[in-house]
Amino acid sequence: MRRKIIAGNWKMNLTPAEAVSFANGIKNKINTDTADVVLCVPAVSLAPVLEAVAGTHIAVGAQNMHFEDSGAYTGEISAKMLASLGVRYVVIGHSERREYFAETDEGVNKKALKALAEGLVPIICCGETLTQREQGITIDFVRQQVRIAFLEISAADAAKCVVAYEPIWAIGTGKTATAQQAEEVCAAVRQVLAEIYSADTAASIRVQYGGSVNGGNAAELFNMPNIDGGLVGGASLKPEFEQIVKYNG
Ligand code: PEP
Repeated sequence: MRRKIIAGNWKMNLTPAEAVSFANGIKNKINTDTADVVLCVPAVSLAPVLEAVAGTHIAVGAQNMHFEDSGAYTGEISAKMLASLGVRYVVIGHSERREYFAETDEGVNKKALKALAEGLVPIICCGETLTQREQGITIDFVRQQVRIAFLEISAADAAKCVVAYEPIWAIGTGKTATAQQAEEVCAAVRQVLAEIYSADTAASIRVQYGGSVNGGNAAELFNMPNIDGGLVGGASLKPEFEQIVKYNG
């Protein structure tokens, strides 16, 4: 039985002081009994938010990392740096990074390999554009993203990964995929993972849905058989995040 995982992606929001204040405000209201909860915060807020949630079961994640250990990569942060702070998760290949920072599937694969080597759990994002959905190529496109992201990752490491299926047309738009649409693609993600590894390995990898998840739609989405929680953007910065985490309550 896979444990649900609900991650908030704060994107480029909140100063470190505001981040701490928000984390302090929600930390005792978030129920981590039934789901893993991760706050993916801006890099400058990682250390202060880690301190704010110390002693709770809330984990902290980064929103990006570089695939090299160190070197002349001005402005970048390595997986080792993140791990040394106590960060446990890292979002990789978010569609906003693919769109605005030209991230490629190959780069996503390099980052995922490095994250795993440093003991971080990569949350590997995939998902189609509206045009691709309308062209009927969603499943083919997402399968290819997943195949490339997992190149050379061992079965043992793959089992530690989280995949976030996020249709781009649903991110930040208020347009959520229906539970059936989300389930169809999450099931296809699991199917391609079963083809790469085995049914057992695929069954242990958690697949999230992301795209305008809110307090009202979380339960229907997260109760689908192949959806193991969510990557939540806008609503993760609202008190509603508490409701999303206890979606069945
Ligand atoms: C996201 O940032 O990954 C996301 C899904 O955003 P939102 O929930 O706002 O659509």
